Amino acid sequence: MRKIHLFGNWKMNMLSQETDSFFTILAERLTQSPDLCLAVFPPSVYLERSRRSIVELGIADKVSLGVQNVYHEDKGAFTGEISPSMALDLGASYAILGHSERRSLFGETSEFVGRKVSFCFQKGLRPVLCVGETLEDRDKGLAWSVVEEQLSKGLLDLSDPSGLLVAYEPVWAIGTGRSASKEDAQGMCCDIRNWLAKKYDVRDIPVLYGGSVKPENAGEFFSTEDIDGALVGGASLNPKSFLDMIP
Ligand code: PGA
Repeated sequence: MRKIHLFGNWKMNMLSQETDSFFTILAERLTQSPDLCLAVFPPSVYLERSRRSIVELGIADKVSLGVQNVYHEDKGAFTGEISPSMALDLGASYAILGHSERRSLFGETSEFVGRKVSFCFQKGLRPVLCVGETLEDRDKGLAWSVVEEQLSKGLLDLSDPSGLLVAYEPVWAIGTGRSASKEDAQGMCCDIRNWLAKKYDVRDIPVLYGGSVKPENAGEFFSTEDIDGALVGGASLNPKSFLDMIP
């Protein structure tokens, strides 16, 4: 049976006390499930605090941690950046790369994201490569060509994809309350899986959907053939709604 991945991207939210209370409530309600892969992506300044919380609360075997971005160098004069080694050192297992907010607000190109993907692989941090089209792309019938370009440049130097995850996040669905329809999300995730299968000859790379996923619609996405979980922003900030998305 395939695993459902429920990944919570906190973005630039949550202070110390909110972080502590999130994990306390999570620990009270979380039960072990072999078919679930749960991960939280706090701001990196709270990564160590998050790790301490999950260890002290005894849930470190049930919830993993990740970072929302990294740089493609190990160390040096890169003011404001953090490296995969630092993220690993503080307990992260995953790094979100190429999130649409990084692409649109911070000018990250697919080539730049690709460098980070390969560097994370070198270091042993699992990338969650985010891809997705804008509404304008979609209206012009360009959704797949945009996603394909993000995949091919993002994975240009990657010959062995073991450990890779991909998240399809249409830009128009992120933080808008307007999720993609189950059919559209499934269709795109299926196209992504086929593309990955053609390049790597494997069909088990987890493909997640993201964009206004919440307790009311998560089950619909998880019932499809090609959506292996969700990358959740807003609804992951509250531990109760985060847990209510567990199938
Ligand atoms: P959202 O964000 O769930 O708030 O739409 C998803 C994401 O950006 O990963």
